[in-house]
Amino acid sequence: MTATEPRQSPLTSAVHLPDPPTVAQPPLAPALYRSTGYAFASTEESVAIRTGARPGYVYSRVDNPTADALSEAVAMLEGAGVDQEVHGQSFGSGMAGITATFMALTQAGAHVVAPRELYGGTHSLLERVLSRFGVSSDFVDTSDASAVHTALRPETRVVFAETLSNPTMTVADLRMLADAAHGVGALLVVDSTFATPFVCRPLEHGADLVLHSATKYIGGHSDATGGVAVGRPDLIERLRIIRHTTGAVLAPDEAYLLRRGLATLPLRMARHCASALTVATALQEHRGVERIDYPGLPSHRSHELARRYLADPAGEPCYGGVATLHVRGGEAAGRALVDRLRLITGASSLGGPHTVAQHVASTTHRQLSPEQLTAAGIAPGAVRLSIGLEDPHDLVADLRRALDGLSR
Ligand SMILES: *Cc1c(COP(=O)(O)O)cnc(C)c1O
Repeated sequence: MTATEPRQSPLTSAVHLPDPPTVAQPPLAPALYRSTGYAFASTEESVAIRTGARPGYVYSRVDNPTADALSEAVAMLEGAGVDQEVHGQSFGSGMAGITATFMALTQAGAHVVAPRELYGGTHSLLERVLSRFGVSSDFVDTSDASAVHTALRPETRVVFAETLSNPTMTVADLRMLADAAHGVGALLVVDSTFATPFVCRPLEHGADLVLHSATKYIGGHSDATGGVAVGRPDLIERLRIIRHTTGAVLAPDEAYLLRRGLATLPLRMARHCASALTVATALQEHRGVERIDYPGLPSHRSHELARRYLADPAGEPCYGGVATLHVRGGEAAGRALVDRLRLITGASSLGGPHTVAQHVASTTHRQLSPEQLTAAGIAPGAVRLSIGLEDPHDLVADLRRALDGLSR
């Protein structure tokens, strides 16, 4: 500082702090970028980045490096077996990603075919929100090819599916649905939240877009909310524009946690799958249980499809971490079972380390009438279990004790 320059005020210095150290060695854990804005070498550079002439970051709602690190990682995992380029986008929640997908792929007059048994939020979005914008939907039994073909129209833009449905764990026949959708010029969009890329990669079976609620297995620790969509670069760019225009962005801190979950996802999924099979097998003959919906059981309606589509990376069967117990004794027995459990927690959400139980008819599917529940194959006593990472024998013991008490 020369004598002629006035000393900089501490107020100014507090803002213009010294630059943080430059790190020459690549860190093992990625950097977390919280900055909302970026500095440019020149106005020319700023313009070039804004117009897409040069890659770069401008503003956190438009793009964020930490959010991109998550979506590109999921794109790599989902696209491992496909020849085309696969990109991804991150969203503030699974529903934000699903909403952006429909906003990108439909317009007034468009038609959607979706499964009758559909995640409640997606069902509401189609039936209560998008219907007001001129997008109509038919909810059909998507495991029935003729029902799907009957529902398709020239205006159908999206055939929607869930790899594994909630709570009956019905497996989508992805190849059949892709062929049906493509036959009328529609796209197959698959919510693969329950499967994860370590159990099924729908892009390999003809899906055009794959969506995740990363809140569940990808994050895996019940502590961050987010969504990811992956697919062809041109589709992902359309989703990106909706994402930054509507502001449905994923916060960098959440993106960081969700991406961190990926390293242990294969290990966790292997344990979730093995333990769910152990629990389902141990309890299927219990006198208090009418039936267990788990696609790993030969008695499950989707067992054949499960064997075709669901496997771990080594090719070993892996049928997901959710099993639904249809308890004898109807609604009262289903509620009582959840309340009698000691180790297993009566709690919402799924995909975390804790095994959680929910009485389906009074919680996740409470909007459905008794007739709609029956049509979706959900008994009044159904209890959905998200099998966690505990020792499965402790889970079986807790469930046995609670079931024994019910039928006494
Ligand atoms: C939880 C869930 C969603 C919604 O995800 P959020 O992160 O809660 O918005 C969508 N689909 C399925 C299958 C889910 O389980």
